[in-house]
Amino acid sequence: MLCLFTSSVCHLMFCHSQSCSYIMLRLDYTGIAVLIVTSFYPLVYYSFICHQFIRTTYISFITAFGVAMAMVSLLPVFQTPGFRPFRSSLFFCMGVSGIVPIIHKVMMFSDQHPNAMVTTVYELLMGVFYIVGVIIYVVRIPERWMPGMFDLVGNSHQLFHLMVIAGAYTHYLATLVYLQWRDSEYSC
Ligand SMILES: [Zn+2]
Repeated sequence: MLCLFTSSVCHLMFCHSQSCSYIMLRLDYTGIAVLIVTSFYPLVYYSFICHQFIRTTYISFITAFGVAMAMVSLLPVFQTPGFRPFRSSLFFCMGVSGIVPIIHKVMMFSDQHPNAMVTTVYELLMGVFYIVGVIIYVVRIPERWMPGMFDLVGNSHQLFHLMVIAGAYTHYLATLVYLQWRDSEYSC
């Protein structure tokens, strides 16, 4: 919700002035960083609900990574066009690092809890949406092929946001399965 809110504010206020657009774009990136970081919380929290040490370790690591990523999004030194691939790579690496707790979950629970595999399918789908979104953002599809044609509708930034929404919705579906898993199968 925070991501969609900051994004909406950004796109509403972006055209106000150059100084305002600078702050608003930072807000847009920070919202997406928060979304990606917090996407790992239910996964780690509910998968390892009976394993406090593993749970705390993963959540601490993810939070530290997220804070670093938000700072890179906000510091002026990283905002030049030359750093565009660097910023995207950081978002990409942050997303990919979620594979570690997912593999850990599958190894620990896939033979006892069918929901471990159901949630993994949703998480992989979420990852696909985020990665496709980042690729579209970096390579600027489709406007690179027909400059000017997609200035109002269909440009890479809009497709990128659609992918983020699809990823967030898939994550929501996974979280519903986690809640059901917690209520029906856990006893610790
Ligand atoms: Zn945006």
